[in-house]
Amino acid sequence: MTCKRSKRHKVHRFHCPTCSGRLWRLGSPKHYLFYTDLSELTQHTGMLHKRAASLAVKGDYVDRSSWLEEFFCGEHGKMWMVIRQDETGMLMAVPADERDWKHTTGTVNPNIPNPSVSEFTYRMSRRATGQLTYG
Ligand SMILES: [Zn+2]
Repeated sequence: MTCKRSKRHKVHRFHCPTCSGRLWRLGSPKHYLFYTDLSELTQHTGMLHKRAASLAVKGDYVDRSSWLEEFFCGEHGKMWMVIRQDETGMLMAVPADERDWKHTTGTVNPNIPNPSVSEFTYRMSRRATGQLTYG
């Protein structure tokens, strides 16, 4: 007999930093954070220096345990949060700021109009008119 319980998804709940209301995931693309040097990597991720160094050797500074993702608050609308996953799989969310956007994998903050960004912004603005699905 197999244990069905182990297959159950862990449900992560996120809360609005302003009103503490429930935040809903919009299924936006995840923009992983990356860093350009070893000290940044260890400083921002809390990653052990040894592990960071092994990533750096491969030329891979992308932090797969943190990313920017778009959420929706019933009160405050859409917002981007930085999600960090710790070793136990727990997710924590904090509001994304300018610096976080500079650390994502080749993306820019869609909240700031930038005519040089075409496809990404286009997709985001189309998404803005889409329907939200609850639950
Ligand atoms: Zn809110």
